[in-house]
Amino acid sequence: MNDSWTIIYTGWDPKQQPLRESLCTLGNGYFCTRGAAEEMTENGYNYPGTYLAGGYNRATTEIQGETVENEDLVNWPNWLFLSFRHNDGEWFNLDNCEVLDYTVELSIKEGVLKRKMRFKDKKNRETSLISRRVVSMHNPHTAGIEWTLIPENWSGEITVRTALDGNVTNNGVARYRDLEGKHLDGMATDMIDKESIYLVAITKQSRIQMAQAAKTRFFTDDKEIDPERESLNKEKYIGQDVILSCKNLQPVRIEKSVVLYTSRDLAISDPLTEAKNTLADLNDFNAWLNNHKQTWDSIWKRCDIIVESGDTNQRVIRLHLFHVFQTVSANSIDMDIGVPSRGWHGEAYRGHIFWDELYIFPFLNMHEPQLARSLLMYRFRRLPEARKAAAEAGYRGAMFPWQSGSNGREESQKIHLNPKSGRWLPDNSHLQRHINAAIPYNVWLYYQSTRDMEFMAFYGAEIILNTALFWSSITTFNTKRNRYEIRGVMGPDEYHTGYPGSEVPGLNNNAYTNIMAVWVMKRALDITDMFDDECIRELFTRINLEDKDLDKWKDITQKMFIPFHDRDIITQFEGFDQLEDLDWEHYHKEYGEAIRLDRILEKENDTPNRYKASKQADVLMLFYLFSSDELVDLLKNLGYDFKKESIPKNIEYYQNITSHGSTLSQLIHSWVYARMDRNRSWKSFEKALMSDFKDVQGGTTPEGIHLGAMAGTVDLIQRCYSGMEIRDDVLWLNPRLPADVKTICFDVKYRGHWITLTIEHDKLKIEFDKSWADPVTLSVQGEKIRFTKDDRRVFDLKKK
Ligand code: BGC
Repeated sequence: MNDSWTIIYTGWDPKQQPLRESLCTLGNGYFCTRGAAEEMTENGYNYPGTYLAGGYNRATTEIQGETVENEDLVNWPNWLFLSFRHNDGEWFNLDNCEVLDYTVELSIKEGVLKRKMRFKDKKNRETSLISRRVVSMHNPHTAGIEWTLIPENWSGEITVRTALDGNVTNNGVARYRDLEGKHLDGMATDMIDKESIYLVAITKQSRIQMAQAAKTRFFTDDKEIDPERESLNKEKYIGQDVILSCKNLQPVRIEKSVVLYTSRDLAISDPLTEAKNTLADLNDFNAWLNNHKQTWDSIWKRCDIIVESGDTNQRVIRLHLFHVFQTVSANSIDMDIGVPSRGWHGEAYRGHIFWDELYIFPFLNMHEPQLARSLLMYRFRRLPEARKAAAEAGYRGAMFPWQSGSNGREESQKIHLNPKSGRWLPDNSHLQRHINAAIPYNVWLYYQSTRDMEFMAFYGAEIILNTALFWSSITTFNTKRNRYEIRGVMGPDEYHTGYPGSEVPGLNNNAYTNIMAVWVMKRALDITDMFDDECIRELFTRINLEDKDLDKWKDITQKMFIPFHDRDIITQFEGFDQLEDLDWEHYHKEYGEAIRLDRILEKENDTPNRYKASKQADVLMLFYLFSSDELVDLLKNLGYDFKKESIPKNIEYYQNITSHGSTLSQLIHSWVYARMDRNRSWKSFEKALMSDFKDVQGGTTPEGIHLGAMAGTVDLIQRCYSGMEIRDDVLWLNPRLPADVKTICFDVKYRGHWITLTIEHDKLKIEFDKSWADPVTLSVQGEKIRFTKDDRRVFDLKKK
């Protein structure tokens, strides 16, 4: 790896291919295609998946006598296929030749995937091949491959095959393979003209149509040639075999331009018409490649984060930014999509939307607020479904699902497979009602950084009021305690699904859930003071809110029960402190560091429910989401005398019993350490940063990236080490860098201003760009200063 903008892999290693493929996925916020080799189809380690943002389909499977329905992110026809063969040989692929050289280069800066290879066939013919691949960030419907093929010691005729292959299924995740994975029906395949072909496929249940059209052109000595072609038109498959006459050392260039439209697109007639129209204009490969590079350039100008702490860290931070924008970008606005926890990079978690938004939005809010707004609209549009779910469960307001897909119904699996034991088990993860705090939290944070009052009045307020109403209706009053409680839920720590020995799933008084519920009700109360009476009356009518609901909210925000033990440790849930201790040393020794204890214990006919052992940050989420003052205040209002000084003790307690079985966990630990020990925080940060790059969970990244950890790590640089907080209409900055970091530098968008921050150990530079926006107040280490457009100031940082 020679710069911090390029990921380079050398050597062909089938075992490494699934991970490389995931990390070399190309996408544009509209669709993504894995970095699979174009000359190979699915074969156990090469998996050419193409996924449309929000492109789901439902299918049913019989398992253990039960019919289960799952909604999958559909794997669409493979547009990549391109291969060749000598007339007396086999189709080229990396398995049937001797690979002499092989390098994969992912240019993060330009969004180009390059593969350079040299190989020898069974007849000792040596060939060099350079492949460049692009999924356009400029025009989200276009993609392409360029091949430069050089005969190194031979001349002769070859046949090149180019194809669009609809014979694909969802088969990318081993533990889902017992489930129905056939989602597509073919609709049509044909030639458009001599150079161009098309394929239309449709999902079996959701009836989303996708048209793909491809044009393949051939050049020698930079001149287009007109070779003989034969068409291949089979079931769900269209291709062309093209005869080329090659000369020793004379490069042949092949351009395959591809266009992709779906029936979900706006401003179209039908997908095939648009695909053909766009393809007809795609003649100059280099021209559209340049547009694509320029679009990436504009993204980097505003969104790059410079961290001086070594090339690898810098490269991986950029890789994270790259995948965030490949998953959601300006191209996603108006697509009615949410932000999926695993990107559109693979089939893990079926492209569903979880609470991981909580880790992803803070970065987007301060760089692409219009995109964050459109992602919040995904939730707003699914309020009716969430209200229905609440009513069906006997609650009021809106109960958003733990996993969300097309229409916002609960998409969590009812049963799941433990690959370690081979057993299908009940899945109770839908009891993670805390998603109903993450969504309003994101609405509030978006509003804080943008002041987008229009969004708040029309959409945001309705989300917050509806979720507050849900929380107050799930709360019960315990007269013995004289406190409110939330019973029968799960916290973020998925190892605990119920009490040991209990037949009924769910836990009582998860501290995180209870405190977040209080926070939502407080914000809901704030909202009733934010708007004019007319607006509030309309909202109350729409939601069926009454004044007495507000009284109940006020009461709950003073009387919610929060469990504590050992005087000042916030207990994860009621009874957690009574559970058994786990022999951590034994399990770490046996299974390594970031372990999935749930799967291991289940295989041993045991359960994590018995132990004081957490998969991921749960209580510690509170120290991530709230400043110590805010948290102390929330608890004080509830009548608990929790002191700031107790926070390190809480962090230490949970650090010792957390396995980091989710990539989100190390990130939160790094964040909360930052309060007491920047250098320890940096060590955890580096672990979180490498989660996907090094596939620390040993096999999950090939199934899709972890977008929460990716966006969360860049946000940690952005907000945590700069000490950035938005509170009381002030952007607070309190920077403190870890010793291993020399400088960090990035732009943020705050209330219409673009601001460049350059942070060193003893200095902070703040530069405002030109802007239309009103002056704003910033605070540097407690000193408040008014800034307006074009202002630039440098501050000496006091040592703390
Ligand atoms: C984590 C959840 C997360 C989900 C999707 C799970 O392993 O425990 O917190 O939302 O993955 O990323």
